[in-house]
Amino acid sequence: MEKAAVLYTGKAKQMFATDDPDVLWVEYMDQATALNGKKKVQIAGKGALNRQISSLLFEELNAAGLPTHYLQTIDDHTMLVKKCAMIPLEAVIRNFASGSFERKFQVAHLRPLVPAVHEFFYKSDALDDPFINDEQAIALGFATRETLTAIHALSDRVNTYLLERFAQIGIDLVDFKLEFGRLADGTLVLADELSPDNMRLVDQESGNSLDKDVFRQDRGPLTPVYAQVLSRLQADAAASR
Ligand code: 5GP
Repeated sequence: MEKAAVLYTGKAKQMFATDDPDVLWVEYMDQATALNGKKKVQIAGKGALNRQISSLLFEELNAAGLPTHYLQTIDDHTMLVKKCAMIPLEAVIRNFASGSFERKFQVAHLRPLVPAVHEFFYKSDALDDPFINDEQAIALGFATRETLTAIHALSDRVNTYLLERFAQIGIDLVDFKLEFGRLADGTLVLADELSPDNMRLVDQESGNSLDKDVFRQDRGPLTPVYAQVLSRLQADAAASR
């Protein structure tokens, strides 16, 4: 399969059409951004690491019966995904307080949150991805009640899987951001990516961040940290085969 016209250039990925109208070509870029794109740098190797972590986790979720858009890997920084109509919401799931939640409620860093907190943000660079509740999303026509219910349920299943998966390798899954879309036949699928760019991961032993907070907070080079997440996931996957 070949890539055709570029459809979309995001902050960390570029999407292309292919000769199959149901398949998109996704290239993970060596770019890191924070503060809604105000901080932007090139980091060699980051795209390939995020592509590998995403492929590994999407493959596992597919195998566990959790529907994702992932089809196959093409090369180091490229994967094929099923084309879907994206729902313009970011679904954030939080297991421990951090980031904007910690700031908003002035609670202790990494305080456990039971039940896991679900939040939606409206995907809009112009508006800085504002928080949006279920009724706001429905009233503005971004999703139906049924779609939101399905997103909540699928998010919980993904959270259960990933929490356990990371716990097995000594990592707490603090929070993460998911995006969803619908295939042509209406199936709701998990889309976008699954990498330390859109999740907070904390090493249970050292308490160190193993995610984009390293970049957001200028705490040193990012690629060795992402490489460590990948190798721990890979070692565990190999051991349990
Ligand atoms: P917070 O709301 O605390 O800033 O973020 C919560 C979680 O969602 C974090 O794991 C963060 O990485 C992820 N997240 C929130 N917004 C975005 C976004 O616009 N892009 C990406 N990649 N991740 C996000």
